Amino acid sequence: MQWLGHAAFEITSPRGTKILIDPFLTGNPAADIGPDKLPRLDAILLSHGHGDHLGDAVALARRDKATIVATAELAAFCKDQGAPSHAMHIGGAHQFPFGTVKLVPAFHGGRVEGDATGKYTTNPCGVVLTMGEHTAYHCGDTALTVEMQLLAGRIDLMLVPIGDNYTMGIEDAARAVEFVKPRVVVPMHYNTWDVIAADPEAFRRAVGSRATVVILAPGQSHTLS
Ligand SMILES: [Zn+2]
Repeated sequence: MQWLGHAAFEITSPRGTKILIDPFLTGNPAADIGPDKLPRLDAILLSHGHGDHLGDAVALARRDKATIVATAELAAFCKDQGAPSHAMHIGGAHQFPFGTVKLVPAFHGGRVEGDATGKYTTNPCGVVLTMGEHTAYHCGDTALTVEMQLLAGRIDLMLVPIGDNYTMGIEDAARAVEFVKPRVVVPMHYNTWDVIAADPEAFRRAVGSRATVVILAPGQSHTLS
């Protein structure tokens, strides 16, 4: 798993399958690479339609004929923009060639960037991705919610926003870790802009011994054992 900056992650399976989550690279001050540097993708998973998550998804999906997996409204938007897409919704899981995706609740805004009509407005979600033995939970942008407790003990890797203002800050993100009980947690969605400045070491201290906190710089990777 490689952090590309902000909420964007590239996940590679042992078989070499490449999945991108929330690929905001163009215009992302925290991104270490542009979309042209990405390898061929198999699928793109989206938590919601804001520009800092939808990002380069449509262009990349069209480039690689990679399937965008998202809530139905957002998937319809991507399809209408010419990208292959698979529509799902919160609570539903689906088995893809690369693994299983389940969408789970997130509390955030639902507008879709680039939609002048407003007809694609959707519910944001978190994304639970299982590939082989491992399950990752990308929280998307969200408040702390009790729904997270339903995932307790089922998650190996949790990707959690800590930047505050638009999402959970450090204190709530640490409580989210308490709820979910992942083995490994990686903080995201911070320091991209001043308004979401946060100290990942303070997050590490807040989590304490509840999980292994892996702090990445954009471009750095972590391999789940
Ligand atoms: Zn965001």
